[in-house]
Amino acid sequence: MADNKETLGFQTEVRQLLKLMIHSLYSNKEIFLRELISNASDAADKLRFEALADPALLGEDELAIRIELDKDKRLLSVVDNGIGMSRDELIDNLGTIARSGTAEFLAQMTGDQQHDAQLIGQFGVGFYSAFIVADKVTVETLRAGTDQGVRWESDGQGEFTIESTDRADRGTRVTLHLRDDEGEFSEPFRVEALIRKYSDHIGFPVTLHTEGEEDDKIVNSATALWTRSRSDVSEDEYKEFYKYLTHDFADPLTWSHNRVEGKREYTSLLYIPAAAPFDLWNREAPRGLKLYVQRVFIMDDAEQFLPLYLRFVKGVVDSSDLPLNVSREMLQQNPDLTAMRGALTKRVLDMLGKLANGDDYGAFWNEFGQVLKEGVVEDFANRDKLAGLLRFASTHAGTDTQDQSLDDYVGRMQDGQDKIYYIVADSFATAIASPHLEQLRKRDLEVLLLTDRIDPWLVDGLAEFDGKQLVDIGRTALDLPDGDGALSQDAMNDEHKPLLKKIKGVLRERVEAVNVSRRLVDSPACVVSGEHDLSPQVRRMLEASGQEVPESKPILEINVDHPLVARLSGETDEQRFDELSNIVLDHALLAEGSQLDNPAAYVHRMNRLLLDLGSTDEQA
Ligand code: ADP
Repeated sequence: MADNKETLGFQTEVRQLLKLMIHSLYSNKEIFLRELISNASDAADKLRFEALADPALLGEDELAIRIELDKDKRLLSVVDNGIGMSRDELIDNLGTIARSGTAEFLAQMTGDQQHDAQLIGQFGVGFYSAFIVADKVTVETLRAGTDQGVRWESDGQGEFTIESTDRADRGTRVTLHLRDDEGEFSEPFRVEALIRKYSDHIGFPVTLHTEGEEDDKIVNSATALWTRSRSDVSEDEYKEFYKYLTHDFADPLTWSHNRVEGKREYTSLLYIPAAAPFDLWNREAPRGLKLYVQRVFIMDDAEQFLPLYLRFVKGVVDSSDLPLNVSREMLQQNPDLTAMRGALTKRVLDMLGKLANGDDYGAFWNEFGQVLKEGVVEDFANRDKLAGLLRFASTHAGTDTQDQSLDDYVGRMQDGQDKIYYIVADSFATAIASPHLEQLRKRDLEVLLLTDRIDPWLVDGLAEFDGKQLVDIGRTALDLPDGDGALSQDAMNDEHKPLLKKIKGVLRERVEAVNVSRRLVDSPACVVSGEHDLSPQVRRMLEASGQEVPESKPILEINVDHPLVARLSGETDEQRFDELSNIVLDHALLAEGSQLDNPAAYVHRMNRLLLDLGSTDEQA
């Protein structure tokens, strides 16, 4: 059937991946075996699933995986009697990568082995990892329910061939022609230890066949890990299972394994990865748990079991109650599912609660904190639990590390303080240098520094914590504990009415109002928002995404104790008063992170002022 032979090129991304992988994963090279066993076991799972509807597919055979070694020929084969692949499936599956964003992801590789190895680990390597140890890989396969076998072969350099064969056995044989210096992977002793490590938790028997020997050796216990009792599973086994499941090759941060009995029966094994996948922010990326019903694999990426804001959680759920023929659509409508989703969500939050008491939480927060924040906005029922898991940068530490909890804040509150203060800014640098902090800093009142895009929505959703209201110090009403707060804004303004009126007259087009400030110490002025206006950060974000934003002007606050304001107050030259007022506002806007509507006008004003200063110096 040689006339059937075609030579095809790999998709560009595959070529890149192959090159990078061989280089960056060399020190982890034995993981190829885990990836191939994982694929074989998935193939067996899929066959069993299809056989639910069409029992003839399964036939008499027991589903199993066999590893064959031929030391003389330096061959290692992974053989399964699972679902197999048709010619088209082979071309798609082993010639392309279907995940969107892969090209951008691969572009982040630097050539630094450690850096790249970590990135590729997050991506998940899969079948292509065979080329780390093999200079040629042959795949022979027969799709269950068909009678045309296919052979795929490649040296991993850019092309592969594909041709029909008369293969009669259902399933797939992947043969690695090991590189000269990789002979160790055809040594029974070495390989058996690896198989044991990589397959002990799979629900199918894995056997080892060595060329020249009569009997196969059964290597694993063929019990799916999650069906075992917690006390029988070691830490290492949990970690291995995670890697098998996710194709990640870093250890998970933590996991939670539970069996629920009673009205609803199911087992769940949930993991928190150590690093975010590259497509965490792609809301279309597949997510969710691997669903089994009574140990039978049903589907990957069952997203119905956890809310979107927990999309980073990996794992398995095995239900005893769901029907075997359950589909994605049915899951959506299943009343049991709502209850399971609630319980699993709670499990994850409890697991994170435990993690939060240990040393790894900072690492978790860096990777997934922003995603978890979505929960405060979306999941009202768990708001209190989520609030306890949040971490912020604050003026207490004064660094941009988000490591302070709301409980930490509350524990440090002053006598008489009944509010939690925060500021929202575009960056940490803007936040920590903000004039809005001055009075609070002077009085040693802690302020949370919020700089993530989602933060304005987060604080809206949260509103309070532990009975204490969250207060934005960038808005008009600022009620500090006793002292200055006692005087109303009106009463404070009254003392400086003529000056405020005059400034407002000049800045009429640019500001909503001019007030005397109670929050400034060192700066002459700042801008604040009205209680119900959009904050400037939200305004900028909406504008950047092309949305219509309702017109609203900031409120200018001035520091009447500041020499510049005193100078303004004493200024008799109308023109100068006008310029100075505008500059004071320009600077307040810049400090807050706004862009000036008319930067050129500002530069002109500033230049005139500087020249003015120069001439004053000369005269002196
Ligand atoms: P992943 O397993 O992460 O999807 P791989 O690159 O390892 O990525 O494999 C790509 C696809 O090739 C798999 O999703 C599967 O559809 C198919 N495949 C790989 N190995 C086998 C196998 N032994 N039997 C059937 N299909 C397989």
